[in-house]
Amino acid sequence: MLLASRNAKKLDELRRILIRDAGAVELVGLADVPTYPEVPETGLTFAENALLKAREGVRRTGLPTVADDSGLAVDALGGAPGVFSARWAGRHGDDPANLRLLLDQLADLPDQHRGAAFVCAAALVLPGGEEHLVDGRQVGTLLRAPRGTGGFGYDPIFVGEGQTRTNAELSPDEKDAISHRGQAFRALAKLITRVLPVP
Ligand code: IMP
Repeated sequence: MLLASRNAKKLDELRRILIRDAGAVELVGLADVPTYPEVPETGLTFAENALLKAREGVRRTGLPTVADDSGLAVDALGGAPGVFSARWAGRHGDDPANLRLLLDQLADLPDQHRGAAFVCAAALVLPGGEEHLVDGRQVGTLLRAPRGTGGFGYDPIFVGEGQTRTNAELSPDEKDAISHRGQAFRALAKLITRVLPVP
């Protein structure tokens, strides 16, 4: 099956989970199939964007396709940046600028109102048109200054519930065990074993 992503780390993470939970599923990424233009992420929710990417993968390759979309939902901002997480400061994928802008916007917010959640939706679309959605969520609070050098995006200012370290201070395995994407990918692996029986 195809994971409609160019992110090698996501591919590795989903492969590790699939090997453990779903046996003999072979997973390829967008780098392994003939190139096609990226589908614009025009949805208003993570689920819509995940479905858009998974449907396009099936249309272009004929393979069962999984796709994910994720971001940070800040309580005090009514769920923003949400689907705009990757482009919050204007330029797509400028993680340092996105993080700086968010910290500035929340500068006056007292500690008790700094709740947020990382959210991930993952879609599985089959060539016959069958569609499935799963999701994952990691709730936590936002610090006033970055801490840690691991992870990416908003990880250096996010401390998950029950944690004392930011997500950027966790090892990749520690983060996968509790992250929104780890949860969504584990749910996806279960779903795959159910709808795509493998020998
Ligand atoms: P994507 O959907 O995985 O490409 O993520 C979209 C954006 O959400 C990223 O560019 C980050 O800004 C943010 N994001 C998603 N997942 C994480 C995470 O695990 N840590 C930090 N930021 C994340």
